[in-house]
Amino acid sequence: MTKKLFWENPYQVEFDATVTKIVGNSVVLDATCFYPRGGGQVGDTGYLGGIRVVDTQVSEEIDIAHILEIKPSFNVGTLVHGKIDWERRYKIMRLHSVAHLVYYLMQEVFGKDCKPASSGLLDEHKERSDYLFKEKLDKEKLKAVEEKANQIIDKGYEIRTWSENGKRYWKIELFPVMKCGGTHVRNSNEIGEIEVKRGKKPGRGKERVEISPLS
Ligand SMILES: [Zn+2]
Repeated sequence: MTKKLFWENPYQVEFDATVTKIVGNSVVLDATCFYPRGGGQVGDTGYLGGIRVVDTQVSEEIDIAHILEIKPSFNVGTLVHGKIDWERRYKIMRLHSVAHLVYYLMQEVFGKDCKPASSGLLDEHKERSDYLFKEKLDKEKLKAVEEKANQIIDKGYEIRTWSENGKRYWKIELFPVMKCGGTHVRNSNEIGEIEVKRGKKPGRGKERVEISPLS
């Protein structure tokens, strides 16, 4: 099993680890800062042993796979240096944290009229989640969600993530605990001002809500 450095410290950018397996262009390490695609969050990119990592994925057969642009020039047993694309990852962390916040605020503002209809999807540009609404999506209410989210962001609430019985959890002071294995910021003020918009309609009865950073 690869040691998940991205859980121990989501702010760690560089690390050294030993190669434990190579399958084609995919490399497995004994430890990594690279977050593998999952829970709606895209996989990290960066460099491993000087070679470009184009994606990180997880599978039961080969564990956390760092997918390289070319076949690796190093072998199993080699100590390699890894570095994630921090600017991209930090944007993802900020968006992932605010996505949880908006999830709760949607239900607070819209009440029973709104039901989550998908788990979210996020990259460094935006987060999208689908909801089922009884009535037409009220623009004023969506604006209220945005305003409330920005107020909470501004106040600087602590955000915690931790492991318990093999599962990962997330919590911000004002809301209940959420199950999540993603990477998150430690304080809401790191998120910065965001925009909440109605996205392209994903299907009958559903509405898509998109969150993007303003800076
Ligand atoms: Zn999450």
